[in-house]
Amino acid sequence: MVRNLVLVLGDQLDAESAAFDGFDAAHDATLQIEAREEARYVPQHKMRLVLFFCAMRHFRELLRAKGFSTHYSRLDDPENLGTFADEARRWFGKLKPERIVVLAPGDFRLQAALSALQLPIEMRADRHFLCSRVDFAAFADEHPNMVLETFYRRMRSTTGALMDGDAPRGGAWNFDKDNRKPFPRTGGPHIPKPLAFSPDETTRAVMRLVEKQFPDAPGRLDNFNLPVTRENALEALADFRSHRLQNFGPYQDAMVGGAPFMFHSLLSAPLNLHLLNPREVLDAALNSDAPLASLEGFVRQIIGWREFVNGLYWRLMPDYAERNALDAQLPMPRFYWTGETDMRCLAEAIAHTIDHAYAHHIERLMVLGQFALLLGVKPYDVHRWHLSMFRDAIDWVSLPNTLGMSQHADGGVIGTKPYVASGNYISRMSDHCRKCRYDPHKADGDDACPFTTLYYDFLARHQPRFARNGRMKQQYLNFARKDSGEVLAIRRRAERLKAELTAQTFL
Ligand SMILES: Cc1cc2nc3c(=O)[nH]c(=O)nc-3n(C[C@H](O)[C@H](O)[C@H](O)COP(=O)(O)OP(=O)(O)OC[C@H]3O[C@@H](n4cnc5c(N)ncnc54)[C@H](O)[C@@H]3O)c2cc1C
Ligand code: SF4
Repeated sequence: MVRNLVLVLGDQLDAESAAFDGFDAAHDATLQIEAREEARYVPQHKMRLVLFFCAMRHFRELLRAKGFSTHYSRLDDPENLGTFADEARRWFGKLKPERIVVLAPGDFRLQAALSALQLPIEMRADRHFLCSRVDFAAFADEHPNMVLETFYRRMRSTTGALMDGDAPRGGAWNFDKDNRKPFPRTGGPHIPKPLAFSPDETTRAVMRLVEKQFPDAPGRLDNFNLPVTRENALEALADFRSHRLQNFGPYQDAMVGGAPFMFHSLLSAPLNLHLLNPREVLDAALNSDAPLASLEGFVRQIIGWREFVNGLYWRLMPDYAERNALDAQLPMPRFYWTGETDMRCLAEAIAHTIDHAYAHHIERLMVLGQFALLLGVKPYDVHRWHLSMFRDAIDWVSLPNTLGMSQHADGGVIGTKPYVASGNYISRMSDHCRKCRYDPHKADGDDACPFTTLYYDFLARHQPRFARNGRMKQQYLNFARKDSGEVLAIRRRAERLKAELTAQTFL
C-alpha cells in the first residue's frame, strides 16, 4: 500500500524539491506522466518534446538508482489516457495511495486542473525560486507599480549578490554603459561553441518515438545535443562560466549572422526543468573572475528578470492571459513557422528557432517579438507560437515575456513603454542589414525596411496612447519631423504589408 504518491511534473526534475521532503522509500512512490495533451495543445517543436520526455526518463533512472519505487506513463503506453488529470486519477485508482503529493505547477491551467481533481492532493510550495510567490505578493503590496529595478535592488540586498554592505559593488546598480554593445565587425573576441551532449540510448529512444508520433511537428532533431540530466546541466553551467560569461555583458544584445548563441548561457531550459537551481547558477557566476559589468548583466537576468516574471505571473493570473491593451487582432504569419521570408533578421532568428528551439533574448524581443507587435498580431497567439517553438518555454515565463514584455499587451505592467524601434536599431546591433534586400533607413518604397515602415505606422496608430509617455518623447519628436504626405505613404505601405504578411497563417 502506497502512502504518498509523489507526482513529478516534467519541469520539476529536482530530487531535492519540497515534493520529496519526508519521502520514505519503504512506503512512498513516484509517478511521472508523459501527457499527450501537453504535447498537443499547441503544436510542439520536436526538440522541445524530446528534451522534456528524455529529461523525465533520465530523472526516473536517477530515482530508481536511489531505490525509489517509480511509476511512469509513457507516451506510447496504450493505457496512457493522455491528460495529467485522467492519468493521475487512473494511477490513484490503481495504487490507492493515501494522498498524491505534487509541487505547485508552473502553469496556471495545470494547477487549476490538478486542484479540480477531487482527489486527496497535497500541493506543496516550490522552493526553486529565490523569491517565493508569498514574498513577491508582499513586494507587490508594498510597490503596486511593480517596477523591475526596485525588485532587482531588493533581490541584490536580500541575496547579498554583488553588494558591499548596503552599497552595490562598483558603486552602481547597472553597467549598461559597458554592456549592450554591437559585436565589432573586425577583431571581436572568439565566440566559443557551447558544450554539446551526445544523445545516449534513452535519448535516442525518445527521438525515435517523437519522430514516429509527431512527424509533422516543427523543428528538427538531427542536431539534438542538449543537456538532459543534472550532471549534464552542471557541465553546461561550468562551460558557460569558463568560456562565455566573460563577454556576456558587452555582447548580450548583439546579433551576428551564423552565431545563434553568442556569449549567452543557454541555461534557461535546464533552469526551467529544475535540473539546475538558480542559487547554484548565481554562486557559480559570483565565484568566477568575470568582469563586474558582465557579472552584473548576468546576475540581473537570474535574480532580477527570472524571479520578477515568475512573481508577476502568479500575482496577475488568470486575467493576465486575456490582456490585449493595444487591441491587436491579426493572426501570426505563416513564415514564423517556416522561416520563409526575405527579411534577413527574421529569417536568421527563425532559423535559430527551427534549428535549436532557441533564439537569444534580443532576437526574441527586438526581432521576432517586435515584428509581431508592429504588425498587430494577437498577443496570445504570439505566446502560443513561443510555447510551441522554444525549448525553455513554460507558461509562467513565456506569458509575461511575450504578452507583457514583447507585445505590451498588459498595458505597461512589465515595461512602461513598448519595445519598438525602426530597422536602424537592428542595423546597429547586428550584421544582418548589410546582407538584406531592404534598406533599414527607408520607410517607404519597394526596398524600404518593413520594420521601419511598420514602426512609424505603429507610432501613428498609437499616438493617443504613447505621445505623452516621457520615455517615448524622442521617438515622437523624430516622428513629428515627417510631413503629412510622407506619413500617409508610410501608412499605406504598412496596410499593404499587414495584408500580405498575414494572408498565410499556420494554425
Ligand atoms: C518574447 C520573449 C519570450 C521569452 N520566453 C521565455 C521562455 O519561454 N522561457 C525562458 O526561460 N525565457 C524566456 N524569455 C527570456 C529570455 O529571452 C530567455 O530566458 C533567454 O533568451 C534564454 O537564453 P539563455 O539561457 O541563453 O539566457 P541568458 O541570456 O544567458 O540569460 C541568463 C538567464 O537569465 C534568465 N532570464 C534572462 N532574461 C529573462 C527574462 N526576461 N525572463 C525570465 N528569465 C530570464 C534565464 O533563466 C536565462 O537562462 C523570453 C523573452 C522574450 C523577449
Ligand atoms: S533591413 Fe530591415 S528587414 Fe532587413 S535585416 Fe535590416 S531590419 Fe531586418
